[in-house]
Amino acid sequence: MKHKITLIPGDGIGPEVSRAAKRCIEATGLDLEWEIMSVGQEALETVGSLLPEETLTSIRKNKVALKGPLTTPIGTGFRSLNVAIRQALDLFACLRPAKSYMGVRSRYKDIDLVVVRENSEDLYSGIEFEVDNPDTNKLIEKIEEYSKKKIRTHSGISIKPISKYASERIIRFAFEYALSNGRRKVTAVHKANIMKFTDGLFLKCAREVAADYADKIIFEEAIVDNMCMQLVQRPNEYDVLVLPNLYGDIISDLCAGLIGGLGIAAGANIGENCAVFEAVHGSAPKYKGLDKVNPTAMILSGVLMLRHLHENDCADKIEQAVKAVIREGKTVTYDFKPTRNDPTAVGTQEMTDAIIKKIHEYS
Ligand code: NAD
Repeated sequence: MKHKITLIPGDGIGPEVSRAAKRCIEATGLDLEWEIMSVGQEALETVGSLLPEETLTSIRKNKVALKGPLTTPIGTGFRSLNVAIRQALDLFACLRPAKSYMGVRSRYKDIDLVVVRENSEDLYSGIEFEVDNPDTNKLIEKIEEYSKKKIRTHSGISIKPISKYASERIIRFAFEYALSNGRRKVTAVHKANIMKFTDGLFLKCAREVAADYADKIIFEEAIVDNMCMQLVQRPNEYDVLVLPNLYGDIISDLCAGLIGGLGIAAGANIGENCAVFEAVHGSAPKYKGLDKVNPTAMILSGVLMLRHLHENDCADKIEQAVKAVIREGKTVTYDFKPTRNDPTAVGTQEMTDAIIKKIHEYS
């Protein structure tokens, strides 16, 4: 079956790493067509909007997109274009696997974790009230009246909505993911001991949903601060983690650190109707156009996309090829080398060429 995929090259290093992922996917011989669309600075310059409606329409129509990182625009009304895309398409689940690859310099071995982060609410809802604004002061007065608690003067306020609907939806997603991917355990991460009505609700939903899977998947609970320590001390004891938005964002970077850094951390944002695949890292503007950064995170995001499209043979070939190149450790970018200035490091496209050579060998 021919796939049509929306490709958003992105900003900064985005076009370089997106090109690498596109080349690897094409090297598998898969029958596909790319629809190249823009978001961010380039879109503003060409079509006059940071987040053009035609880009969103393309993703809705094709149902899958591969997206390079976007630079967060300052002072444009958008808090984050990434958050705006996730909200516009209701990509409620953020999936970030953290898997060790032999040859990557890391303190840990054999890590195989999956972070499932709620993407649609929590402190990322963007409901904020600025310090000393008259509306903020009115809100503070109301909160003091209802809560019978004092808020310091000159405070800013961020609202943390956690709903039953979104909590159940993400927790069910985590269990279904665990079931269909041969995982044994789901751990719900929270701070319900302090935030009883938000994280408390998330935890209550987790317990209820877990009951439906009791005979198939182990369920555990962990308080987020303790989870940080556990992940540093005993990461191999965990499997699938499900978290509200903010903790999910932080813990997924921690997990990226466990496997050797942002250069290899892949991700997906999944909704009921479409999905956008992207690396965990940002646009690293200082490396833009230098052909220097690691393409692996973006290539592995492409692998996640192929699995989502049930193209597992092609996904396996690319993953095997990436693994082999990293294990050999010769044709790899600077961040895989013992020192940052290692003269044997290769550029983004040369590492991609080495991966493509392996893909052809496996075909
Ligand atoms: P970043 O991830 O872009 O870069 C931080 C550092 O990580 C880089 O300086 C580099 O040393 C390293 N790094 C990142 N990607 C790498 C790669 N592929 N290979 C090797 N090293 C790599 O984070 P930042 O500097 O905080 O953010 C830059 C911009 O990206 C900001 O505008 C931010 O908002 C945006 N951002 C976008 C996304 C996204 O589009 N999903 C995610 C995070 C940040």
